[in-house]
Amino acid sequence: MDKERKLIIAGNWKMNKTVNESIDLANGLVRELKDIKEVDIAICPPFTALSEVSKSIIDSNIRLGAQNMSQNNYGAHTGEIAAGMLKELSTRYVILGHSERREYQRESNELIAAKSKTAHEAGLKPIVCVGEQLDERETGKTEEIVSSQVRGSLEGLTEEQMLGTVIAYEPVWAIGTGKTATSEQAQEVHAFIRKLLSEIFNTETANAVRIQYGGSVKPDNARELMSQKDVDGALVGGASLDLRSFSELIKNSI
Ligand code: PEP
Repeated sequence: MDKERKLIIAGNWKMNKTVNESIDLANGLVRELKDIKEVDIAICPPFTALSEVSKSIIDSNIRLGAQNMSQNNYGAHTGEIAAGMLKELSTRYVILGHSERREYQRESNELIAAKSKTAHEAGLKPIVCVGEQLDERETGKTEEIVSSQVRGSLEGLTEEQMLGTVIAYEPVWAIGTGKTATSEQAQEVHAFIRKLLSEIFNTETANAVRIQYGGSVKPDNARELMSQKDVDGALVGGASLDLRSFSELIKNSI
């Protein structure tokens, strides 16, 4: 598939996989995906498995991502993980503002913007998640919600930092539900986000930023979604937990 921007597909393992299970899956993916050059691939295991998975993928084309981090660099923040700690394990990406954290941990756009800044300062690339709830879509508020999330969560980033940021558009009603947005629905919001980026930054930056789609992406719908002009990859939950489905999803996307 001929794409304007290189695809980036990341697996978000969420709170799944023990350390041993993580090593097995990572080793399998290294074997299965070793010849893939057309896609930037990342896996985001739980914190407890980052160190071992980092070793498993060290000489491969798979990069390591974390699922969250603190906005603070060190200190009295019990239970938190700092960007520098992730960096030490050769982590490249960090998912920020996932809808589950926005909902259950009450993460605000302001907090996500602070985390994004901290991530960049440590040399990590944030994957910033945005997306509307079902009732917001049904009441015609998708653009309003996505706009305030994009503007709020990227507040204060420099143009250079924006270029090193990935946005994941994840309609909340499509996450883990088996309900995928149609490729037209995804394209429409992705194009809207790119237009916003050109207003906040400039057209050149907007055209360079990669925008992933997330929400029940599977091996059999990946190609159709990835073929959309402004869809530059996927953030994958459920289908990233299984060696065969994640490998097939990536191979089908090319
Ligand atoms: C996600 O959690 O980011 C996600 C997209 O999950 P799923 O693929 O399971 O819908």
